[in-house]
Formats: sequence, structure tokens, C-alpha cells
Amino acid sequence: MNSDQDYAYIGQKMYDLMEKLYPICRSITGNGVRKSLNIIQKIIPIEIIEVPTGTEVFDWTIPKEWNIKDAYIKNSKGEKVVDFNKSNLHVLNYSIPVNKKLSLGQLKEHLISLPDYPDWIPYATSYYNETWGFCLSHRQLEDLKDDTYEVVINSTLEKGSLTYGELYIRGETKDEFLFSTYICHPSMCNDNLSGPVLLTYIAEYLINLSRKTPLKYSYRFIFVPETIGSITWLSKNEDALTNIKAGIVATCVGDSGNFVYKKSRIGNSLIDKIVEKVLIDEKNPFQIIEFYPSGSDERQFCSPGFNLPVGVITRSMYLRFPEYHTSADDLDFVDPKSLSESFKKFLMIQSIFEKNRTYLSLNPKCEPFLRKRNLDEKLGGHKGDETYLLSLFWIMNLSDGTNSLLDIALHSKLSFEILSHAAKLLEDTVLIKQI
Ligand code: ZN
Repeated sequence: MNSDQDYAYIGQKMYDLMEKLYPICRSITGNGVRKSLNIIQKIIPIEIIEVPTGTEVFDWTIPKEWNIKDAYIKNSKGEKVVDFNKSNLHVLNYSIPVNKKLSLGQLKEHLISLPDYPDWIPYATSYYNETWGFCLSHRQLEDLKDDTYEVVINSTLEKGSLTYGELYIRGETKDEFLFSTYICHPSMCNDNLSGPVLLTYIAEYLINLSRKTPLKYSYRFIFVPETIGSITWLSKNEDALTNIKAGIVATCVGDSGNFVYKKSRIGNSLIDKIVEKVLIDEKNPFQIIEFYPSGSDERQFCSPGFNLPVGVITRSMYLRFPEYHTSADDLDFVDPKSLSESFKKFLMIQSIFEKNRTYLSLNPKCEPFLRKRNLDEKLGGHKGDETYLLSLFWIMNLSDGTNSLLDIALHSKLSFEILSHAAKLLEDTVLIKQI
């Protein structure tokens, strides 16, 4: 991945995958998640895991599985005034089955609209609360006349399972990077299809990379229903969590908003430093915010019993953009270019994680005499490059065993890549050694 063309190509592939996933009605359980994971499985070899209804996962229990075939509201003329087939957002997600006739007044108790955005359909859910409802645009709601309405939701809520996808790319060590995203929202793009499509292609890239050069670290990708899915995954993998040295929750990464990074609960963990360095070096406006215990799956990863070094990367952040959780978060709200920019950022993060090392200077008393070692010659194409020379001095000075290359990059404001090359040179000339 070097040229702009490569990134444009991958941006389009992510968008194409999003177009395929967009029409599917997903929820925290059910066939929508399975179908979506099957589509992703055609690109990367994820394992699909089923956890039965009733399984206890920490303080939670896997709920009954929800599936839906059809839903509508018909007026007395037999016209469908709200139709699930036009948008799956029309049904309150997880609605119990219903088939009855109601007056307008009775019906309105089950209708949800957004008066401030009268053309948009809101996204609402009724997990863990057996009820039913419809979501519709405020204009549709206002058009409803006094009438008797036939209300049908052809859904099932019964014993089944919760489904999630997982992929593990084994590196030379068990230490791993966790990429997490959720896969439970119906037809909406930034929140949340952008996360799964981005991670699918990051995984594909790393699989291809690992075939050429073995990876030092292992990489894990999980595609879980939000909240209950990450709780389930944590509960099933509790013994191996110490392998996670850094991680990211990917959400809302498909629109053109500036990048926002929400730190891990630890606040100065490896991932916090890596993302800070990547965002600073890109020189575009960005925001870094402290951890707080609401939002997405970081709530579980960063719960005090685990306190994992996992942060969140978004473009326009969840809850902060008007289109959030509405029908306006559609295929026009996201674009291939923005997806490809997110892809690039994620690869930069992975690259620093993969290449970060800590060295110890073997010549800590005064500066080494570089010329004696022909370092000028060894600099090759970088000969005379002040930044390169400076990077040698920074590494020699800060490599006292407590600073990693990433720490040196943050402190010196030099590029991680340049420092990484310079470190190799110093290692070759036996001025530093890796610890
Ligand atoms: Zn959401």
C-alpha cells in the first residue's frame, strides 16, 4: 500500500462491501448477523461462533434470538402506510410479533419519529424489553388520518443463539493487537457498517502481508454485536486477555469528519501513544478525548476488571452528528475516500505497533564518534539529511532502556519511520541493542 491509487482502490472495495451489507436487517442476534458475517467470510476466513440463548456472560444472559420476515401498517383502504420492505429501520428493532387492528390513538403509542428532522426515520431498539413499535418519518406520522389500522409484525423471538465472528492472525509472539467492531445495526452506514468493512480489509491486508513477511505480533479481529457481544467475547476469552497489548474499537470511520480518538481508560497506554503520534504527524485537524464510561464496546474492554489498553477511533463521533441513528446515515453519508483515509490511519497504527522496539545504548558515556564508524556512508541516500542525523542522536541519548522508539518519536517530534530506520543502522554498528 503505497500509492494514492492503492488507497483509492481499497476505499472503493470497502464501499462496495458496504453496499452489499447495507440492505440486511441486523440486530444483536439473528440471521441478519449470520448473513453479514457470511458475506465477510468470503473475503477473510473468520470463524463464526454461536453462543446459545440463556448462556450467562458475567452479569448478563444471552437473550432469545430475534428474526423478522415482514412488518407493515395498513390503513382501512388496505394501503401500506409504513412498510418494513422500504426500510428495515421502520420496525423497532427486537419487536415482538403483533397482528392486530388499532385506532390511530392506540397506534400512536407505538410510533417513534423525529420532529426536528421530519424526513428521517429514527433507529430505535427494544432489547431486553418485550414490546413492539414502528419508527417513521415525522411527515409520515403527521399524514396518518383518523382510521383503523392493521398492524403486522411478522417476527420471532425464541431460543437460538448470539452470533459473532473472529479472526486470529498468528505472529511470532502471543502478544496481540485487538481490532474490535460491532455488527448489530440495521441499514446505517457510518454507525455502523463502516467499522466492519474497514476491519475486513485491514485483516485481508495483514493476511497478505504475513504471507510475505512473518509478523512479530499476533492480530485478532472480532465482529460482535455491540455490548452483549463484547461482554460475551470477554467472558469466553478471559484467560487470554493479558496477551492484548493494544487495541482499537472501530466505529463511525466512513464519513469525512475529522478524526477523533477516545483514549483507553489507562490514558497513557501503548495505543494512546501510537494514535497520538499518528494523528499529530498527519497534520490534519483532530481531537483526542479522555476515556468516559459510555459509548461503544470500550465500556466493556475498559471496565475496571479488565482495564485493557483499548481506545476508540471515529471520524464524526457517535452521538455527535445529526444523522446518527437515523435513515440519513445512509450510503450517501459515507464515501470511499473517507474510508480509505481511515484505512491508511489504521495501517499506520498497526505499523508502529509492529515495529516499536526498546533499545539500550552501548555507548552511553558521551556521544559516539560517528565518523569512526562510517555512519555517513551507511546513511546512503540519507547522507547529509539533518533529520536523519538528528534521529541518530535522539536514539543514542534516550535509549537508556526506559524509552521505546515510539516514546522517542513523541518526544523528538521526528517521524517514527525515520527513527526506526536509524535504529536499525545503530544496531548494525553495535551502538545500541534491543532489549
Ligand atoms: Zn449505534
